[in-house]
Amino acid sequence: MLEAVNVTKYYNSLCALKDVSFRIEEGEIVSFLGPNGAGKSTLFHILVGLLRNYTGDVFYKSRKVFPFKDRGYRSIVGFVPQATFLERELTVEENLRIGALLYGVKNHREVVDSFLRRFDLFELKDRKVEHLSGGMKRKVVIVKSMLHRPRLLFLDEPTTGLDVNVRHDIWNLLIRISKEESVTVVISTHYMEEAESLSDRVFIMNRGSIVVDGRPEELKSLVGRYVVEESTAKGMIRRYFDSKDDAIRFMNDRGMEASTIRLREVSLEDVFIKVTGENERDSSNLL
Ligand code: ADP
Ligand code: MG
Repeated sequence: MLEAVNVTKYYNSLCALKDVSFRIEEGEIVSFLGPNGAGKSTLFHILVGLLRNYTGDVFYKSRKVFPFKDRGYRSIVGFVPQATFLERELTVEENLRIGALLYGVKNHREVVDSFLRRFDLFELKDRKVEHLSGGMKRKVVIVKSMLHRPRLLFLDEPTTGLDVNVRHDIWNLLIRISKEESVTVVISTHYMEEAESLSDRVFIMNRGSIVVDGRPEELKSLVGRYVVEESTAKGMIRRYFDSKDDAIRFMNDRGMEASTIRLREVSLEDVFIKVTGENERDSSNLL
């Protein structure tokens, strides 16, 4: 449905994206997971048609997408940028109406009204945005991006800065939107757990490239199922095993001390470390 072919983007001499290629199928929820600076926002700006001067191509349903020019494409895309703004002084309903008008939504009053009701915002509709919690604001922004009924919804770090419970509320909202509106959802995140629990497929990015992609379970099985972490003077050493018994046998054989080792299930963080070869410190902002 959406395809990128060798997308490459330089900011002067800095290579922000290098030969990025992938396909996203209709109805999927996919995540681009990577640390700060990996190129996620740059990629999203290209995919939604807001950035030019890149090489490579983006296709939607086999038709090439041209930055800025493609009105048809713009009308089927919803985008929640990393820094999102609402009019603080206006109410929830007024903010949604502005969004609907900007997109030329027909019957905008009725549409806004139905979204307010369906997504449990009706009670809050007359509240000024400045009095909402961070999570509620994020919810309003997401609903606002859906008013023109896009087929493809891009959200750039939709939950960054929110606490864990609120993050889960936003995941549930996105899962609902994906199902009820049959929209393809593309998010970027640096939260491993988010990518793992929310997405059908994950693209792990690092330094402008997609280093690996697949279903979360597939990705984890690339490294093993269990990991033994050992703290040593040189840093953390990780050893991967296909079964818990193998891991425990290894620890017993080596007579390892409980204070310096930990046995746990493999996570996407392990996949990231393994495929990028970058150590824990580099990836610590992924937690
Ligand atoms: P992410 O969203 O994954 O944090 P970005 O796409 O924002 O990554 O950034 C990728 C790289 O491009 C980083 O090295 C960043 O500093 C650089 N970059 C991003 N935007 C600009 C810009 N407008 N001008 C110059 N460099 C930029
Ligand atoms: Mg970003």
